[in-house]
Amino acid sequence: MISDIINSNDLHKVDPVFGQLSFDNHEQVVFCNDKDTGLKAIIGIHNTVLGPALGGTRMWNYKNEWEALNDALRLSRGMTYKAAITGLNLGGGKAVIIGDARTQKTPELMKRFGEFVHSLSGKYITAEDVGMETSDMDLVRSVTPYVTGISEAQGGAGNPSPITAYGVYMGVKAACKFKFGSDDMEDKKVIVQGIGHVGESLVEHLTDEGAKVIIDDINPERLYDVAKKYGVEIYEGNDLYSEDVDVYAPCALGATINDETIYRIKAKVIAGAANNQLANEDVHGKILQERGIVYAPDFLINAGGIINVYAELEGYDKKEIMRKTENIFNTTLEILENSKANNMTAHQSAMTIAEARIAERKKENAK
Ligand code: NAD
Repeated sequence: MISDIINSNDLHKVDPVFGQLSFDNHEQVVFCNDKDTGLKAIIGIHNTVLGPALGGTRMWNYKNEWEALNDALRLSRGMTYKAAITGLNLGGGKAVIIGDARTQKTPELMKRFGEFVHSLSGKYITAEDVGMETSDMDLVRSVTPYVTGISEAQGGAGNPSPITAYGVYMGVKAACKFKFGSDDMEDKKVIVQGIGHVGESLVEHLTDEGAKVIIDDINPERLYDVAKKYGVEIYEGNDLYSEDVDVYAPCALGATINDETIYRIKAKVIAGAANNQLANEDVHGKILQERGIVYAPDFLINAGGIINVYAELEGYDKKEIMRKTENIFNTTLEILENSKANNMTAHQSAMTIAEARIAERKKENAK
């Protein structure tokens, strides 16, 4: 009973928002509810120093509201640093819709969600994330201009996932160059966990270059289709982390590098699309460093999508999108070299640069 908790001495352990472990001085957290459409969503606005908070909307069947809130807080924070390190004038935000995207997503629910986004007057700009399609963003666009990732037919830059995948591919190559001295992916053994929008496209780049790709997903139909299309192997074991591979590419959900998995990981390089791969950035980042496993910071290498949607706001073209995304290779290499030179984790190395950019802008804004 909530009244028992409220009256107990344990109240500090359950502070609903500001006391959450993943709360990191977020500027605003918005809870959206609509009885008629069944919408239950949380919009996290972490930081708007560099610009409006842009970040996708995820629809997921969360176990409970705590899990959803935690995701909104962690994901929106990640967006702040992603935009900062990529040099974009955007803040960090993210939204989660609680529910099963396959059975509970309706046009009415998406439009209602769009109205909530609109009510924030552009402080938060949405886009697609897990469980969302470009067509969903088109629905949101019908009620608010504060949405990106809309279809090319509607004047948008289209689905950002292939660009995200290209950036991740650049990150994988840079991390391999750092670890093995060459970015050649031919015959490199790569396990891709999650072969959704981004994962599949990554598989395509890797197989085109002759990598030996193994795929894993919770969706058996997708596994079968992707394996057939690219001629790759399906992972059949029961402990993917202990697979002896060159690269582990997490492209499903976050926090797969955690207390349970960290010492089992045999991959020499970790580089993938999933947001928030390290369950605990400091602890798990450090263990990876000590174990000599090269980790390409997720928020750095999965920035292709945000570069793509930012083009809708700034009006730059496909050529510029690809140029900026390709540059992820150079940035990743610099960050990894900097981490080695300064004996810090790759995550810390990336964060230091991102935080410095925000601090500098904050000073300028205050003038
Ligand atoms: P998606 O929903 O298209 O694909 C996710 C895939 O992961 C699905 O096929 C799902 O079945 C699978 N999956 C879920 N749980 C799994 C598990 N435990 N083990 C194995 N597979 C599992 O999503 P996406 O757009 O491809 O995004 C993938 C990841 O990349 C997400 O973490 C997302 O936040 C991140 N990301 C995506 C973009 C983008 O442009 N789409 C940009 C940046 C970051």
